[in-house]
Amino acid sequence: MKVGVLALQGAVEPHAEALRDLGAAPAPVRTPAQLADVDALVVPGGESTTMSKLLDTSGLAGPLSDRLASGMPAFGTCAGMIVLAREVLDGRADQRSYGAIDIAVRRNAFGRQVDSFEAELDVAGLEDSFHGVFIRAPFVEAVGPHVEVLAAVDGHPVLCRSGPVLVAAFHPELTPDRRVHRLFLEAGA
Ligand code: GLN
Repeated sequence: MKVGVLALQGAVEPHAEALRDLGAAPAPVRTPAQLADVDALVVPGGESTTMSKLLDTSGLAGPLSDRLASGMPAFGTCAGMIVLAREVLDGRADQRSYGAIDIAVRRNAFGRQVDSFEAELDVAGLEDSFHGVFIRAPFVEAVGPHVEVLAAVDGHPVLCRSGPVLVAAFHPELTPDRRVHRLFLEAGA
């Protein structure tokens, strides 16, 4: 199973390490040819507005839309969650999102005073809590009927799944716990 990690910007290597730990073969994706060569894709954290621009300039925007529309498994964390969402609130007018999962996401939703925080999350399907690292994190404001909410903070969804697409507002790649990456690999990748 070849799992791509979108490597235009952001926290790429920690995801590659998590995937390697689970026996998947990670490959960086910067070009349409590299995207065509992977079975699934991780969209990392970073800055969603910058990532949106780089997807356009790299020529990946069209091929990425096509692959997602045809059901490629994908896992987006933080900015990656924003990139995969149906709708972005508080985004830039020219910011593109790819509608791979039927959620509306608000950028920097936890507020500017609490830029970053950590929280113990109860995750549906996991026995013990998961340590969530949130960095200028979004949260989900609305979910469509086919979206499962797997974890929430103060009532706001922060981990959602819809078929082979998983999105997290936090950064599971920054802790040694691989259980959320495993959920992604089990869901279809
Ligand atoms: N606030 C960033 C954005 O809007 C996301 C931050 C992150 O990925 N850690 O893209």
